[in-house]
Amino acid sequence: MAHQTTTRAGKAFVYTIGCQMNELDSELAMATLEGDGLNVAARPADADVLLVNTCSVREKAEEKAYSWLGRMKVLKRENPDLVIGVLGCMAQKEGKLIFRRAPYVDIVAGTAHFTKIDEYVRQVRATGKRILAVGRDEEVETEKRLKARETRQSAYVAVMRGCDHHCTYCVVPNTRGMESSRPLEEIVEECKILVGEGTQEITLLGQNIDSYGKRLQPRRRTLSELLYAVADIQGLRRLRFITSHPSDLKPELFQAFKDLPNLMPYLHFPAQSGSDSVLKRMRRGYTFERYLELVAAAREAVPDMGLAGDTIVGFSGETEEDFEKTIELHERTRFQNAYIFMYSERDYTPAKEQGLPDDVPLELKKRRINRLMKLQRQWAAEENQKKVGTVTEVFGEGPSRKDPDKQEGRNPQNQVVIVESGRELKGQLYKVEITSATDAALYGRLV
Ligand code: SF4
Repeated sequence: MAHQTTTRAGKAFVYTIGCQMNELDSELAMATLEGDGLNVAARPADADVLLVNTCSVREKAEEKAYSWLGRMKVLKRENPDLVIGVLGCMAQKEGKLIFRRAPYVDIVAGTAHFTKIDEYVRQVRATGKRILAVGRDEEVETEKRLKARETRQSAYVAVMRGCDHHCTYCVVPNTRGMESSRPLEEIVEECKILVGEGTQEITLLGQNIDSYGKRLQPRRRTLSELLYAVADIQGLRRLRFITSHPSDLKPELFQAFKDLPNLMPYLHFPAQSGSDSVLKRMRRGYTFERYLELVAAAREAVPDMGLAGDTIVGFSGETEEDFEKTIELHERTRFQNAYIFMYSERDYTPAKEQGLPDDVPLELKKRRINRLMKLQRQWAAEENQKKVGTVTEVFGEGPSRKDPDKQEGRNPQNQVVIVESGRELKGQLYKVEITSATDAALYGRLV
């Protein structure tokens, strides 16, 4: 997704790759540049400052960043004053290697540095020297966002950064460091300001959000406490949070779903695999049975809970039997949607450092992922079909991306709902009777 803004000394353009946390970080980086005074860059060719906010989770995401940088090199040749910066996880992980691979880059700033981007741009312009900023001890100044930010109906709010888990396939603890939670009062204050400015839906973000507040002083806080406090804000229509970890999810959380009418019934709750031996090698800290127990507890507490999952296919040592357990987990959980990926070894992960081989042949990984995706689509379509004839409340997002003559929005479970409507429904809550469904969306008519 591209983000556009400018500074007094020119224009800036940020290209964002990766997760919602990155989208938010780009917004914060932009707000920082806006603090220096702004004009608008509609496209990279119009910009004086070009940033790419990167992701390291998959190799493809890094290739995407380098290929974008490669295209920007031409612009630098035409305009030697152009400042090019790389932010985010790949900057943190690769550090000065980026300067070697893309020597025309001026700034490499890690995950704790994006709100200092204004200073770095000024320094590069004043000295002409490159900046490498990947220290981990910086404070992320989220309040900058409050000073300069466009009003939006849905907003992300970071409540914690980093992760204390060491899942062996994951680079996040390396790129984003250990968990660090923001004070509860500060988060509530930020949410109040957002709602006061017209935001109606807030999604709280954390890489491992269930362990929010564990090191806060003078006392530990919990995600549940935070949810009650934010949900209480007058005018907040919808509250969500992502991402949950099956080892840290606490049963008290289900009570919050029952108590808080504006807390939406949606859990993004990655299982990653159904095989106990693979889960052990991934160091996930739960078993197939435990995962299904949590699914059952969530559905008992909130029968219409929407569950989304993440699954990695072809992790080190995955046998046919292991893979069958993953299929069984999907079949029994009936995720409304699942992000399914093929494993590929990443630098700086425990798996690589411990020598867990990436030993499932590519062809086999492809066969397995195709089979799982096909089944997942079939099960999601079957579940969605059961919703035909029901009425759901939808929060409008505006014209449908696929068919601009129709209006698109989200139901409480965060599923896309498409309706015919002669008027724009963005920012409105409306009731829809579902008339048909696919694996990816529900279709209906306004009630
Ligand atoms: S819980 Fe595991 S997969 Fe998720 S961010 Fe932490 S280390 Fe990575």
